[in-house]
Amino acid sequence: MKYQIYTARNYKQIAQIEKVSEADLRSIDIVAHVLPFKTNNYVVDELIDWDNYKNDPIFILNFPQKGMLKPEHYQSIARLLDQNADESVIKEAANTIRRQLNPHPAGQTHNLPVLAGEKLSGAQHKYNETMLFFPTQGQTCHAYCTFCFRWPQFTGMDNMKFAMKEIENIIAYIRQHTEITDLLITGGDPMVMKASVLDAYISQLLEADLPHLQTIRIGSKSLAFWPYRYLTDPDAEDILNIFKKITDAGKSLAFMAHFNHPKELSTAAVKAAIEKIRRTGAQIRTQSPLLNHINASANIWAEMWKKQVNLGLIPYYMFIARDTGAQEYFGVSLSRSWDIFRRAYTKVSGIARTVRGPSMSCTPGKVRVIGVSEVHGEKVFVLEFIQGRNSEWVARPFFAQYDTEAFWMSDLKPAFGKKEFFYEEELAEIMLD
Ligand SMILES: *Cc1c(COP(=O)(O)O)cnc(C)c1O
Ligand code: SF4
Repeated sequence: MKYQIYTARNYKQIAQIEKVSEADLRSIDIVAHVLPFKTNNYVVDELIDWDNYKNDPIFILNFPQKGMLKPEHYQSIARLLDQNADESVIKEAANTIRRQLNPHPAGQTHNLPVLAGEKLSGAQHKYNETMLFFPTQGQTCHAYCTFCFRWPQFTGMDNMKFAMKEIENIIAYIRQHTEITDLLITGGDPMVMKASVLDAYISQLLEADLPHLQTIRIGSKSLAFWPYRYLTDPDAEDILNIFKKITDAGKSLAFMAHFNHPKELSTAAVKAAIEKIRRTGAQIRTQSPLLNHINASANIWAEMWKKQVNLGLIPYYMFIARDTGAQEYFGVSLSRSWDIFRRAYTKVSGIARTVRGPSMSCTPGKVRVIGVSEVHGEKVFVLEFIQGRNSEWVARPFFAQYDTEAFWMSDLKPAFGKKEFFYEEELAEIMLD
């Protein structure tokens, strides 16, 4: 299958676009000036139900929607387009809006690893065991999720020399940090890289003799957005051989697949691609945020987890949509998130209850909403860290005032009249570094 990209520039060539109303096309044009927009022929031809595009979860996942911008932001771009304003003026207005959308959430600039006194860009080391690596060539995706705010890094540089240097630094850092057992290669989407580039990284890692590095993880949305990566792309076989090389070397390969909706698990192509990846000895774990307009229903999640375990995938995380970008459009309150999680979880067998959530990736760590309870007459959220900047914070239940209007950790107040949460003083010290 030949890969065909559609963006704001050429999407009107899509045959099915004639089913979309004039008003909706205009909204796409307006919102696409601010939010990233990219889709492809697999998504368009095999995933989207164009007869019901208005409510189709995959259409909403890839095509910018009016409600994703605040009304005043939407109107300001609409006005400039009506006035035939200069491209540069529109760009400036779009950038002003973007700056208001919190493009670098969760204190990410605090997680840069330091090697020989220098900060390593393209990497993060926030939790002891797992280091993140963002290879330069993996900073784009086969299509863009409308809820995602990683565009500051969607640059697409292609420089092999830089890549080789990059992985040398990562290896040197891992060698010094024997607590690291997992390297998570992420992006963007690392599976947009050519097999030759991925191989350069993986071969060096395997040859580096790092016995404490047990697991190589690859975080990718490619199974949902371009399963032909493993079937018909010219280097599909080479990719599978790289996966095989990892497992043959005695490392475990965890393919962290991003699926937002059961529809993405329904095509012959995705099933064949899953089968091919599993045959390399890789394990596939799955994760997704909970998203209003896309998957905010217990039935959808239960169906998704059931389909996943039937295909041999292991449900891993349910995330709460983070506090960036179009959160007002996609956001689900904490109380509703927990309710959806709980009702979905109770519909599946223990095999699918490997999933953890609903979880917020915020500055102190990954905080899970365990549930809602009442203690001495006070209604509370019961929370815990799944991951913490300090591992001592993990798996200790703590309490926040119940609040149906809370969408994120920053909206929560400690319960029982306490001034702050148990970790806050220590977090403030860590963040000074
Ligand atoms: C989620 C995450 C990880 C991985 O955590 P696991 O619990 O090991 O899956 C690592 N680093 C960062 C910054 C993360 O957000
Ligand atoms: S595939 Fe991942 S990085 Fe790419 S747009 Fe979607 S969520 Fe963002």
